[in-house]
Amino acid sequence: MGLLLEGRKILITGAGQGIGRGIVEAVSEAGADVALIDLRMEPLQETAQGVEENGRTALCLVADVTDRQAVDGAVERMIGEFGRIDGLVSNAGIVEMAPALDITGDSWDKHFAVNVRGLMQCCQSAARQMIAAGTHGAIVNIASNAGKVGYQNMAAYNASKAAVINVTRNLSAEWAEHGINVNALCPGGVDTPMLGAVAEWIGKRIGMDPQELLDGMKPQQMDRKIQPIEIGRVVAFLLSDDARIIRGQSVNADGGDTPY
Ligand code: NAD
Repeated sequence: MGLLLEGRKILITGAGQGIGRGIVEAVSEAGADVALIDLRMEPLQETAQGVEENGRTALCLVADVTDRQAVDGAVERMIGEFGRIDGLVSNAGIVEMAPALDITGDSWDKHFAVNVRGLMQCCQSAARQMIAAGTHGAIVNIASNAGKVGYQNMAAYNASKAAVINVTRNLSAEWAEHGINVNALCPGGVDTPMLGAVAEWIGKRIGMDPQELLDGMKPQQMDRKIQPIEIGRVVAFLLSDDARIIRGQSVNADGGDTPY
């Protein structure tokens, strides 16, 4: 049997660290060449080293997903380099912790600018190219189980991730006729710099050692934290032809914490 994504050309946003880097690792391990987007070149180049170790090609592209022109430009450069785009993983995201009463308008807007509008712009830009070329492709949007569960002190984040879950249903229905399969993935706590920053914030607030908090951020049904590469392997499956009957879903990858 060949590799799951042999020869596919996949674009991954937020690829400079954390879950994005784990996705790049898993997708290139599964045989894909990858275009990587993040805000700075240096972390992208570090991620790209792992791709080369897997014998695949990485194209590093600095772009802010909230900048429509920059996103379109990055996708065009990818097409110029690889000839086509078969898949997108819209993973770039942010969280700013705050009690609901203290969330500023700016912080609310920033969550929606990056996590929803930025994600949507990447989906539009990738889908336009796939539709123009007649490519049957796949999109995986990285939501969160926070889009289903009302975690405290992250109302703006929760709301933005719920929006990702629903826009995914919409895109799945609208783009099915073009052969594009769109799903969302909902990780629980994953061992990344973002989770470290969350632990730091909570630790300060409740007077607890952030490292101790972080160490305890494990799924109830597992005795360890979820690693980015594990999220990456689920994403690789959702990008593959084997996942064609899974459509418009918000698939939990949270070690069993969320039962719906
Ligand atoms: P992270 O903060 O460790 O990494 C996010 C990456 O996205 C960074 O490299 C950052 O530079 C990049 N990024 C942020 N804004 C960007 C923008 N405007 N344009 C381009 N790149 C941008 O986060 P992570 O933990 O790896 O999370 C990745 C995704 O997974 C996010 O969407 C996050 O909401 C989601 N998620 C994370 C967890 C978790 O526990 N870590 C759980 C559920 C969902």
